[in-house]
Amino acid sequence: MANMGNLEHALLPYEKKLRAQERRRKMLGVRKVARPTYERYITGPVERFDRGKEAFELLKPDNPFGEEVRQRFKARTGYTSRDPLPYSELGPEDRIGQSLRDATYRLANEYRPTTQSVTSPSGRLDVADKAWLTRLVKKVALFFGAEMAFVTRVDQRWVYKGIAVPHQYAIIAVISHAPSLFDTSPSHFSGLISPIAYSRLKLITSQLADFICGLGYDAAYHEVVGANTHLLMVPMAIDAGVGEFTRNGRVLSPEFGINMRLMAVTTDLPLEVDSPIAFGVHEFCSVCENCATYCPANAIPSGPPTEGPLGIYNNPGFRKWYENAERCITFWSINKKKWTSCGGKCIAVCPWSKPTNPLHDTVRWTAIHSPALVRKWLVWGDRVLYRRTKKIKK
Ligand code: SF4
Ligand code: SF4
Repeated sequence: MANMGNLEHALLPYEKKLRAQERRRKMLGVRKVARPTYERYITGPVERFDRGKEAFELLKPDNPFGEEVRQRFKARTGYTSRDPLPYSELGPEDRIGQSLRDATYRLANEYRPTTQSVTSPSGRLDVADKAWLTRLVKKVALFFGAEMAFVTRVDQRWVYKGIAVPHQYAIIAVISHAPSLFDTSPSHFSGLISPIAYSRLKLITSQLADFICGLGYDAAYHEVVGANTHLLMVPMAIDAGVGEFTRNGRVLSPEFGINMRLMAVTTDLPLEVDSPIAFGVHEFCSVCENCATYCPANAIPSGPPTEGPLGIYNNPGFRKWYENAERCITFWSINKKKWTSCGGKCIAVCPWSKPTNPLHDTVRWTAIHSPALVRKWLVWGDRVLYRRTKKIKK
């Protein structure tokens, strides 16, 4: 590799950040494993999921899969869509919250850049050192604003049915939410957490895709909601070593718990993949149940994993914790004056949604390395200390 002194210096803060993340995972005792731990939940053939059956999609009036869901949604909420009320119908605080939410959503909703054209293969950057290049891509992701970045191979089972994603590799970009927002859940302020995260992630991933195209390789960014949605992000992130599968259907990472959002860039740039990880999330969720207990919509199951699916919005072939997505999104619209999305009470009450500092890391270490009884005490302590309640704040 030619002399890259300037580049190494310019990105040194991000190299340090990556090293600190790696040290921290080691200190917590997070294990790298050969196979993703979601495999324990697979019971049958896994078919590629039809995006038209995804819960938000089912509410669209022209979706042929969604007729029954739309009827139940209308009967329960009185509305035919999740559209917010006009500002004039909101009190001052709710108007401010809704206006903030709308302002943060615009970028995620309306900014749809196409990636810049790819240099011809003859002019590609030499990538003899895959490890160095992978490190560079991760540092650039952090430079663009990601808090973590991991790499995996694209498993075609996790590409929506009928969609072609020809690239071999995926970079998963991760950012976390501000706890002060989701602590207010459900409210117009907690509802901010996903739009602001998705707008930031869109900037990060579209810039990262452009950067890779500039090196002479094809790349595309993929959203979780919106027009550019092609991948099931949860299993992709588990494959990449972001975290493990949880009771509420999310990915739980050792750094942020479930308090994070993800987006991906896929590419044919040859990269070194990260290993999936294991740190006892299944065992912790088995004794915890905070998200199930405090979800205002009763959308998250208690008890052990079950056979599914619960509805058209679930993929069959698993014995896992199936979230009732219909109850969740219906709850989001039952009081539009106060909220238009729950904004993740399940995130707020998860014991892993804590800042990364020595105190909480000690608790994390204990949660990872202790038997079920100690984990139960930790959950009990979390409930008492943080005064968990199902009550909705007025
Ligand atoms: S977002 Fe809110 S309603 Fe939906 S599952 Fe989480 S806690 Fe329940
Ligand atoms: S709240 Fe408890 S059960 Fe739910 S995801 Fe977090 S750790 Fe698992």
